[in-house]
Amino acid sequence: MEKSEPNTAAATTAVSPCAACKILRRRCRENCELGPYFPPTEPLKFTIAHRIFGASNIIKLLQDLPKSQREDAVNSMVYEASARIRDPIYGCAGSIFQLQRQINDLQGELAKAQAEILKMQCQQANLMTLICKELAQMPQPPMYDHQSLNDNYNIASPQSYHSSSYLFEDSNILEPLWT
Ligand code: ZN
Repeated sequence: MEKSEPNTAAATTAVSPCAACKILRRRCRENCELGPYFPPTEPLKFTIAHRIFGASNIIKLLQDLPKSQREDAVNSMVYEASARIRDPIYGCAGSIFQLQRQINDLQGELAKAQAEILKMQCQQANLMTLICKELAQMPQPPMYDHQSLNDNYNIASPQSYHSSSYLFEDSNILEPLWT
């Protein structure tokens, strides 16, 4: 009879039985159908699934599925079983309701925050309009005129002092005051 499992997998299962077979106290065969999904390193996985679904149901379910879907099915069963242990009445549905409530609460908070942002944007726009209006009504100070600033600078420049003193020297008007 041909074996579908590779030799390496067979070698590891021979060394230590899978978690399922160990818990069920049965001999773990080379082509154990539970071995690939319940490795000996994770005994809790099978304990949890076994407590809620039962070993025969797990095996039956896996046999009905193509190999490509079996790992997902096992993970789903383990998740559902842990939810059922945590919440015996609602199980997974309890988590779903709780998450749905959280989504609703957060959506409410988001809507409130968005309304607050809109309100603040309106207030900011109103404030800007008010500031612009105030500025437009204020009288323009004369200092802002560029040409008059330049003229002031020319009057106070050292060049102009020099030329005026030169003018005084030349005419000798101030000479009696210096002696
Ligand atoms: Zn096994």
